Amino acid sequence: MTAVRFTGAAIISRRVSIGTIDNPLRVAVVGSGPAGFYSAGHLLADKELAIEVDMFDRLPTPFGLVRAGVAPDHPKIKSVTRVYEKTAAKEQFRFFGNVKIGEHLSHADLERHYHAIVYAYGCETDRQLGIDGEELPGSYAATEFVAWYNGHPDYRDIEFDLSCERVAIVGNGNVAMDLARMLVLPRAELEGTDTADHAIEALASSNVKHVVVLGRRGQAQAAFTNPELRELGELTDADVIVEPFELDRHSAQSIDGEGEITPRRNVEILQEFSGRTPEGKPKQVELRFLVSPVAIRGDEKVEQIELVHNRLEHGGEGQIRAQATDEHETLDVGLVFRAVGYRGIPIDGVPFDEWKGTIPNEEGRVLDPHAQHAVPGLYVAGWVKRGPSGVIGTNKRDAQETVEHLLEDVREGRLGDPERPARAAIEELVRERQPDVVDYAGWEAIDASEKAAGEPQGRPRVKLTRIAEMVEAARAARV
Ligand SMILES: Cc1cc2nc3c(=O)[nH]c(=O)nc-3n(C[C@H](O)[C@H](O)[C@H](O)COP(=O)(O)OP(=O)(O)OC[C@H]3O[C@@H](n4cnc5c(N)ncnc54)[C@H](O)[C@@H]3O)c2cc1C
Repeated sequence: MTAVRFTGAAIISRRVSIGTIDNPLRVAVVGSGPAGFYSAGHLLADKELAIEVDMFDRLPTPFGLVRAGVAPDHPKIKSVTRVYEKTAAKEQFRFFGNVKIGEHLSHADLERHYHAIVYAYGCETDRQLGIDGEELPGSYAATEFVAWYNGHPDYRDIEFDLSCERVAIVGNGNVAMDLARMLVLPRAELEGTDTADHAIEALASSNVKHVVVLGRRGQAQAAFTNPELRELGELTDADVIVEPFELDRHSAQSIDGEGEITPRRNVEILQEFSGRTPEGKPKQVELRFLVSPVAIRGDEKVEQIELVHNRLEHGGEGQIRAQATDEHETLDVGLVFRAVGYRGIPIDGVPFDEWKGTIPNEEGRVLDPHAQHAVPGLYVAGWVKRGPSGVIGTNKRDAQETVEHLLEDVREGRLGDPERPARAAIEELVRERQPDVVDYAGWEAIDASEKAAGEPQGRPRVKLTRIAEMVEAARAARV
């Protein structure tokens, strides 16, 4: 139970009849990733109130990072969409794909049409390293590479120059693991996945032989999960390399996560990797610890990355910090990917915390950043609520918390009626502003055409990667 205060408008405890057959609770959910779908699912599972959910996504295709982030060689993880499909099949659910909030519709437009809005639009941009040379060609955000190999239409035309032999990945989480694997997967393994066609060709014919993953802290502070780390030791074409001296250097000054299972197992796995003799596979993935990039160098493109060696320090409140030493090292690399975190992008009119890159909230109720009051009718879920952490399932509990507060506010009479609550009114406005809107049946047509293209090749799907192609496939199903 929270002690959130509400602003003036909400104090008029109207106890109006929102949520009845005559005046169903109308909710806009912005974003169709896990957080959006779990929010919609929780709302539509309510047995007492009549509720209608309209979901908006800036892409014609739903499912957020399940489609555009999760690595293509992990197809089982993507099967979570079956749960979302059940939600989408409900009569009270509508999907408005290819509709960007902040472009086709404003926050004010949504306020005029809905009792409540749940923002669940994720963290679409990356955190920067803030070092010299970061803007050189050949230095990229992991977000760009991930979106490119997953066929996200915004990134499909980027050309990554994979002619170099060595690549550095900065970051010690699962995204870094995904990139490392994707860079060394053999053609035969790539071809069995839903990796975008343009990326299969580029990755399979790449010259990359050595991938170095750089962690600023030690082995026990790495954010890998155990299966993802273990998987690096099982790659067909690449040996995993962990220098024993790096682990020793770390344990000599060790402040490690004794007691926590995941870091403890990670340390065991890394110890086992460090004891291996390389099998002489054509490629290598090397894991380095206690190093931070201080500059990226090159005349016209990335040629080197300069690293400083770190030691560990207690930073207060149980934090373990990396502190730079005087020892430097330079690596020859042709590409640098930074995988050091994602952040949200603000939408005009919606409170935003620039520092955290999230929407300020208390347990899902959006807070007015100046007054620290809850803004009536405004909610947030998923990565844009809590930052880019946790797995897909984490968003389920997270969305449930948000929806419970939303429903509590309805029952307590804290929400008012919008100006234009009719279901047809928003549809009319959307079609006027975005004639290429794709509804759920349109997505099902895209889905069917992608699967049909994949079937003869034994692949789960061949992704459409241009918006125009997706709109066309969606339209073709209607005629
Ligand atoms: C590279 C990568 C790999 C991952 N792999 C795994 C994994 O293997 N297993 C696992 O459990 N978790 C994995 N995760 C984590 C998981 O993907 C996230 O926990 C989850 O997707 C977050 O859900 P979300 O709904 O908050 O955001 P998202 O999934 O990002 O969904 C946000 C949606 O909002 C839409 N949107 C954005 N802006 C707007 C706007 N202005 N208007 C309308 N729509 C908008 C986007 O198009 C998107 O569809 C991975 C994450 C990344 C980055």
